[in-house]
Amino acid sequence: VLSNDIVTELKEIVGSDNITTEDAALQSGSKDCYYFSPVLTPELDGKYADVIIKPANKHELKAIIKTAVANGIPITPRGGGTGNYGQGVPMSGGIMINTKRMNQSIEITAEHAAVECGMSLWHVEKAARSQGGELKMFPSTITTSSAAGFITGGSGGIGSIHSGLLAEPGNILSATIMTIEPEPQELVLDTPKKLKKVLHNCGLTAFVTEVDFALSPKTDWHQYVISFDTLEQAVTAAEQLAYDDDLYKRLCSVLEWPIPSYFKPLVKRDACPDGKSAVFLITDLTPELVAPYIEKINGTLSYHLAPGADDVRGFQIYDFTWNHTTLWAMKADESLTYLQEIHESEGLLEKLKQVKAKFNDDVSIHLEFLKTGGIVRPGGLSVVKFKSKEQLFSIIDYFESIGIRVSSPHTHYIDYDVRWYNPDFIPAKQEWDPNSLLNPGHFKALEESA
Ligand SMILES: Cc1cc2nc3c(=O)[nH]c(=O)nc-3n(C[C@H](O)[C@H](O)[C@H](O)COP(=O)(O)OP(=O)(O)OC[C@H]3O[C@@H](n4cnc5c(N)ncnc54)[C@H](O)[C@@H]3O)c2cc1C
Repeated sequence: VLSNDIVTELKEIVGSDNITTEDAALQSGSKDCYYFSPVLTPELDGKYADVIIKPANKHELKAIIKTAVANGIPITPRGGGTGNYGQGVPMSGGIMINTKRMNQSIEITAEHAAVECGMSLWHVEKAARSQGGELKMFPSTITTSSAAGFITGGSGGIGSIHSGLLAEPGNILSATIMTIEPEPQELVLDTPKKLKKVLHNCGLTAFVTEVDFALSPKTDWHQYVISFDTLEQAVTAAEQLAYDDDLYKRLCSVLEWPIPSYFKPLVKRDACPDGKSAVFLITDLTPELVAPYIEKINGTLSYHLAPGADDVRGFQIYDFTWNHTTLWAMKADESLTYLQEIHESEGLLEKLKQVKAKFNDDVSIHLEFLKTGGIVRPGGLSVVKFKSKEQLFSIIDYFESIGIRVSSPHTHYIDYDVRWYNPDFIPAKQEWDPNSLLNPGHFKALEESA
């Protein structure tokens, strides 16, 4: 618990409307979406910040960091709170800095969008489209995710099949950071090598204050649901679409039945026929132009959503993809959870058949095709029936034993099983956060050496 003097000092920085020490607000405002994991839930429940504070600008942020460093108080940055590995949970209490008010655009043209850390990606996308550009990729949480929360907490999303993941050189042009030192410094990271020290590391090395996103030219996207009798047909069809370089796409997902049955708004619109596995495709092709592709892959078009997402948000097919698939599955059946896999393109179907033969309905296949190192490959977010921690980890072991790599989403340590390990993280943290005050408790190597 922080002393009254510290709380008063913080209040003077942001004004009393922008700080809270109320129990209910601390409890709800300290959680992220770790409840997606039945393993993390008991581990992280009950970990709360002592105070939540909302600075309006870098000047206020700097004053908060100075107070925290002078008094040895941990700091946890918070954007939209949609991270789902508990990596934004304040493990040692302290100050949670919510960036909601740092939400201004700095410069947005057709080529790039430079914004403050707390700007929601939906607003970035809207502003970019008004200038003739659009985000190269965004997570399915686009409406709630913040710019900095995405680049530090996320990995990629809708658009990654064409543009690659966040860390692909050229996707993020720069990130401005503030160090956690007695006199915080502002540094601009504007090369792939420098950016690697903050991307996808859950904000463990520095506080990101601004992000500059490279944009793609604005495109009129058509969203399609294509149905198939079997999983095998859906996977084969998706492979043909995903690997066809002439087909410009923003999304290509495979959803094994019964996953489409969990998407209630789509079911209501007759978009997900009973018993059928589905491919979700977002492309610039109109229904007339996409028809030959669908015929070639022996699919049935079950739903089409025409462009217009830039006018009003409304309902989008991508709202059911990436980790939103898991969200809808958990809404339908709370015993469901998920994995995150990296597949090899070669022999995909054979591996999936092995998984199905071994686990049957306990594992339902969900694939998202994405590009890494310039090559399109299948990523997986299998939906798994949770029975026990041991059963879940034995499924992971089996996947690994047949050559499917799993980045377990059931740990909050970013270096556990070296899933996101990057040798640049620890030296960067030591340089920019020498007292380890920023978001402590999520780096296993540092916990063990303390
Ligand atoms: C339903 C659902 C769907 C999802 N889909 C995707 C997806 O498609 N692709 C994907 O990549 N991820 C996805 N995610 C994970 C998550 O939504 C993304 O990582 C998201 O972009 C995080 O943004 P946020 O603003 O909510 O971050 P938060 O949850 O607020 O923060 C995430 C991490 O970043 C840190 N952080 C936040 N702001 C800063 C800052 N200014 N400086 C330094 N560190 C900071 C936090 O401390 C935390 O560790 C999904 C999650 C859910 C629940």
